[in-house]
Amino acid sequence: MNFDFTEDHLMIRDSAREFAQAEITPSTIERDINAEFPADIVKKLGELGFMGMMVPPEYGGAGLDTISYVLALIEISKVDASVGVIMSVNNSLVCFGLEEYGSDYIKEKYLIPLAKGEKLGAFALSEPEAGSDATKQKTTADKEGDYYILNGMKNWITNGTSADYYLVMATTDKSKGHHGISTILVEKGMEGFGHGKKEDKLGIRSSDTCSLTFQNCKVPVKNLLWEDGKGFNFAMNTLNGGRIGIAAQAIGIAEASLKASIKYSKERKAFGNTISNFQAIQFKLSDMAVKIDGAKMLTLKAAALKDAGKKYYKEAAMAKLYSSKIAVECALDAIQIHGGYGYVREYLVERYLRDAKITEIYEGTSEIQKMIIARALLDEK
Ligand SMILES: Cc1cc2nc3c(=O)[nH]c(=O)nc-3n(C[C@H](O)[C@H](O)[C@H](O)COP(=O)(O)OP(=O)(O)OC[C@H]3O[C@@H](n4cnc5c(N)ncnc54)[C@H](O)[C@@H]3O)c2cc1C
Repeated sequence: MNFDFTEDHLMIRDSAREFAQAEITPSTIERDINAEFPADIVKKLGELGFMGMMVPPEYGGAGLDTISYVLALIEISKVDASVGVIMSVNNSLVCFGLEEYGSDYIKEKYLIPLAKGEKLGAFALSEPEAGSDATKQKTTADKEGDYYILNGMKNWITNGTSADYYLVMATTDKSKGHHGISTILVEKGMEGFGHGKKEDKLGIRSSDTCSLTFQNCKVPVKNLLWEDGKGFNFAMNTLNGGRIGIAAQAIGIAEASLKASIKYSKERKAFGNTISNFQAIQFKLSDMAVKIDGAKMLTLKAAALKDAGKKYYKEAAMAKLYSSKIAVECALDAIQIHGGYGYVREYLVERYLRDAKITEIYEGTSEIQKMIIARALLDEK
């Protein structure tokens, strides 16, 4: 195994770090309080190539590998995990899905502006009655001539009101169960397509989450991705890569928790001593550092397998399961190290805990990751 990053990896990581610190930090607290979408930041991320990092240059992307993507996403999420998830959905779910399964028409028309960051994408799988069990899609897409007519509802959609293009999973043939689900690209503004109000969330508050509604929404058949009936596989395959992104987001939050804890523990005095001299505090810092390194190893391994064109779904699930768990633990430890100051907004660590929790829920809950890992283990020869 090679544990060295290339010069290019380090350059990408450093430019993401510089951007995050200079451009994202100043507005983070205010956007969290006001649940304000970071439109200007997303635009700049696009200009720098961070919204289509793994898309080949001929389709407007930066043509980088998954390791670069992980390193950049950690840096962005270290400063603001809301920006992290916006970037992750556009890169891992939307751009990847279009690059892998889009027709030439779809790539030309939709992938290029998405990869350049001129347009924003959303991935719409979840429904009120289809969360962990995504096979139970109630949204329908009936073929009438050259169009699909969509009816139904999606909920919890990241970039819900802000996106331009939506990858919507819908049932095209009820009789075939989950083999009758297809993925259709819907554009904002298409007749019959609407959205509900933005969710008032615990964390990642400046990301934009809402429900989507389809009432006789007419979408051209040429906006179908892959093939009719392949929508469930499409969703599962894209989510495999998405989990590497969410693992990176979680690692960013965990790293921010550790960094804040080291700084604070060197400043805070109690019983005539700086608290960093207390072994109870030191052990927390050590535990956090070990967990973060473990999470990074798992996540980079999944990324390396993906880059090598090998199977990575078990490793991606392991990376997400572990990174999200330790992100919550590190944020909790950071609050404890900060004492009362950890419980107020000014010291940031309370946000890290609120932001960390979602990484155990979306793109498959931790329970679902364990099911995926167990299935893979039991299937292994
Ligand atoms: C902020 C936010 C953003 C999101 N963004 C998106 C998005 O962009 N696109 C999208 O499609 N979805 C999105 N989601 C939806 C998210 O993926 C789902 O919430 C998640 O998959 C869980 O589904 P659910 O909420 O219906 O919970 P449920 O499926 O109802 O699960 C409830 C509980 O039961 C457990 N459970 C369920 N089945 C099993 C089982 N077989 N064994 C053991 N335990 C089980 C779950 O782990 C969970 O703890 C988002 C959600 C949130 C909150």
